[in-house]
Amino acid sequence: MTHSEPVPTHPQNPLAQPVNAVGSDGAGGSGSGSSDGPSGGSGGGAGGSGGDDGGNGGFRGRKVTTCSFCGKTSREVGPMVEGPGEVYVCHNCVELCQNIFKQERRRVSSISAQLSEIPSPREIVEFMDQYVIGQQIAKRSLGVAVHNHYKRLMHHESEHADNIELDKSNILLIGPTGSGKTLLAKTMARMLKVPFAIGDATTLTEAGYVGEDVENLLLKLLQAADFDVEAAQRGIIYIDEIDKVGKTSGNVSITRDVSGEGVQQSLLKMLEGTVSNVPPQGGRKHPEQQYIQFDTTNILFICGGSFVGLTDIVRRRLGKTRIGFGADATGPDDTKGRQHFANETLETEWLQSQISNVDVVEYGVIPELVGRLPVITPLMPLSNEALVQILTEPKNALVKQFQYLFKLEGAELTFTEDALLALAEKAAKRSTGARALRAVMEDVMLDLMYHLPDMDNEGAQYVIDAAHVESPRSLEELRVSKEKTA
Ligand code: ADP
Repeated sequence: MTHSEPVPTHPQNPLAQPVNAVGSDGAGGSGSGSSDGPSGGSGGGAGGSGGDDGGNGGFRGRKVTTCSFCGKTSREVGPMVEGPGEVYVCHNCVELCQNIFKQERRRVSSISAQLSEIPSPREIVEFMDQYVIGQQIAKRSLGVAVHNHYKRLMHHESEHADNIELDKSNILLIGPTGSGKTLLAKTMARMLKVPFAIGDATTLTEAGYVGEDVENLLLKLLQAADFDVEAAQRGIIYIDEIDKVGKTSGNVSITRDVSGEGVQQSLLKMLEGTVSNVPPQGGRKHPEQQYIQFDTTNILFICGGSFVGLTDIVRRRLGKTRIGFGADATGPDDTKGRQHFANETLETEWLQSQISNVDVVEYGVIPELVGRLPVITPLMPLSNEALVQILTEPKNALVKQFQYLFKLEGAELTFTEDALLALAEKAAKRSTGARALRAVMEDVMLDLMYHLPDMDNEGAQYVIDAAHVESPRSLEELRVSKEKTA
């Protein structure tokens, strides 16, 4: 390391004495001040040495140095720190290195912290029970799949990994709209404390066409992880409406099918595991752009779709004669081995539980994609009783939310059993599953919430009954005296 005169340096900030700041005496191109710190390290002093451009009077008498890492000159990026053997580093590269070290430290600590505590499938199901009503089959198979996925990650990273490669188990959730597919995926991510992103398959198109590239899904995950690539690479991506990108065989257009099968093709690699180039700003890729290298091998993909009409395909596959429902039904199986169900709902549930990958392929998902979604999990249509439970039981149930809002005004709110059932029945008519509950509830509560703050609510108690659900009344009418309810 060149050494001419001692330069006061700042131990925490080597850039305090950067090369060019002391370079005024180096016009001849010879060495200048530098301390004896390690290369670019903490004690790293600075000193302008004879760079190629030494003596360049055009740079206010300072030498122009070139960063050994990024190749930019001090004209472009300002002062640099010098290390032994004509090595220079600019402040951009120092910052970058600091971030890399920070990420690495976080990665090491998070791997050891996270992987030592993978919840068991039972714990996962118990956690999901707090937020998701019913859907026991889905919860169980998700619990097992997710547990195994993170086991696989641990196995992958452990030094004692045997030669056995555990396959990735991406999941396909099939169930009517508003039955809790997104909620299940979201709850899972919340439990595992991993980054989570939701994408919509219908907005995707093949690269080069108007729409989004599949890489945008990865960008969403990166954003959810605050651009911590390591954390994002072990996150969960939920792709909704996967059934809407089926093969468009009935397509009479002569143009290419850029949003149907084409998208499925582009999803294949990502689901299986590949290193993708993600444009950090999003949007379309273009050649001059800088990309973030993103490995999707350890991402858990959960795809969801309502697959309307899929049960008809299942019924056809199983043969019409084997199933039916009606008043004569005595049990799930009669003597001829035929399935009988007391009502249509039970039949639908049974068909839903019989869905297999061949049905999904017949529906229009290409076999390669189905092959990469080995866990097919059905979700059941929600019954009215389940809707009532959804109104009252989950941690953030709608009834609890409104009760809290009333409490903030000093009042108490209760719903009668009949009212809850009436709300559920009203919601069920909209055929959007539990999604309709919020809208129905808002309808019923809007006027009340409007007038509530203007009332004298000291010790007030309001009871919502079925009659109010049918034709809303005023707060005064719903108010009851304490003795009446006691
Ligand atoms: P989808 O199946 O269409 O993805 P979502 O999961 O988005 O449906 O459900 C919409 C909303 O309905 C959720 O935010 C949640 O409040 C409610 N919901 C749906 N299913 C359930 C369920 N099984 N348990 C509790 N809430 C549910």
